[in-house]
Amino acid sequence: MRTSTVPPTASPILVLLGRQGAGKGTQAVRLARHLQAVHLSTGDLLRQAVAADSPMGRAVAPVLARGELVSDDLMLSVVLERLAELSTARKGMILDGFPRTALQADAFVRAIGVSTIDAALEIDVPVAVVRDRLASRRVCGACSTVTTAPPAIEAVACGQCGNVARRRADDTAAAIDRRLSVYEEQATPLRKFFADRGLLVSVDGLGSPETVFERAVKALRPMLWGEGMAVG
Ligand code: AMP
Repeated sequence: MRTSTVPPTASPILVLLGRQGAGKGTQAVRLARHLQAVHLSTGDLLRQAVAADSPMGRAVAPVLARGELVSDDLMLSVVLERLAELSTARKGMILDGFPRTALQADAFVRAIGVSTIDAALEIDVPVAVVRDRLASRRVCGACSTVTTAPPAIEAVACGQCGNVARRRADDTAAAIDRRLSVYEEQATPLRKFFADRGLLVSVDGLGSPETVFERAVKALRPMLWGEGMAVG
């Protein structure tokens, strides 16, 4: 049997958890397509603000470059604003990079109600693997396709569109260390926050994007579609 890919919840809200470089962005794009929801990456939003040299971008640029977290208040207001636009459009949301702290999670849940979050999916990849992935990651400035390069090479041609793919400003060795250590500090309380509410599911993030996506859909099935239903 094959059923609709659209879950019974008309506008699903799904939170993605996992280390930087675990593949949250890649899976968010696929899940958003599958669930007919919008992918919201707070990291992308902040990088766009930096690139546009907006007042917010100027304020957060040094924080991003150091690999630290921007303030909980700023992140919460940015996400709630976007969520309000989406609820008007009756669209669901795949949250990639938010909430990042238990405090953000708590404030978010108080603002929207816990029952509106359908699941928190953790993509689990060991720290040694993500460290290598981040050091070799280069992102195309034109089409955002991610490609790889040896650690010493800063820029390569994008295989997708031929423009230049560069190292992200926060993929330097020092910023990677900082970001991963900030992640480890926040991960346990954040995971507990969602586990306590029966919302946490975890999948092994090693393997091809297709394999991880299949695992994710299988793990999410009971949360989004109800146990036992076939998912397209
Ligand atoms: P990401 O692309 O998710 O790794 O995010 C890149 C950077 O944006 C992070 O290192 C933080 O400086 C900032 N950032 C993104 N999301 C958040 C968040 N929810 N809370 C605080 N800072 C964030």
